[in-house]
Amino acid sequence: MSPPHGRPKEGSLPEGDEGARPGPGGTARSAKGASCVKRIGLFGGTFDPPQLAHVALARCARDTLPLDEVRWIPAGSPWQKTRAISDARHREAMVALAIEGERGFVLDRCEIERDGPSITLQTVHQARQREPDAQWFVLIGADQYNNLHTWRGWRELLSLVTLVVAERPGVPLQPDPAVASMPHRVLPLPPLPISATDIRARVARGEPITGLVSDAVASYIDRHHLYTGSASGH
Ligand code: ATP
Repeated sequence: MSPPHGRPKEGSLPEGDEGARPGPGGTARSAKGASCVKRIGLFGGTFDPPQLAHVALARCARDTLPLDEVRWIPAGSPWQKTRAISDARHREAMVALAIEGERGFVLDRCEIERDGPSITLQTVHQARQREPDAQWFVLIGADQYNNLHTWRGWRELLSLVTLVVAERPGVPLQPDPAVASMPHRVLPLPPLPISATDIRARVARGEPITGLVSDAVASYIDRHHLYTGSASGH
């Protein structure tokens, strides 16, 4: 039987408060004032394909938290996905197209380059080693928030980063009670009814995906015949 769901402890981090907490380097001053600490959002996903709700989520996080950088991290081997996923080179190329020209958005290949399953905690350890003075945020949608208690090392992860959650239509925020008791931020973003699953299904049916992905991503999907056959795992 699944455990009862607790109410999430929404807003338990006052806006900007996490920015005033000294980072590992102990040099943070203030989130809104002239902070000398770089604020970096880590946005992981399968991105098969990257869609416009991903872009809206990342923009909202960048502008409201605010963040200096949002690192888009395509999973190399997403251990929780059971379907076949597109080759990393396609997903990476589509992310590059999806974020082109966006202030502060960066493609981060660390999970593609790493062997083994993509574990967010490892990604955070790696990032902190390289930039010990930065302040870290992990951006996720409601489905992942509700699933967070199954992530490897989630307790340690939440001790190292600020968790930032975006709502999704039809997905009430119902994390495991242990997760709900931990601080997190909810983005002021209306729930957007877009999913990569739906996009792959539309392509497979020969339907348009205008307004769901950027034009550049749509052309890439078309040019590389992604999601048209059973091999794409839609
Ligand atoms: P799929 O349908 O293949 O499971 P997806 O559209 O959920 O894919 P992912 O690449 O798995 O996309 O998602 C990356 C992150 O973006 C996850 O944390 C996910 O919860 C979040 N996300 C995706 N779509 C939305 C959305 N419409 N609103 C809020 N968050 C979203």
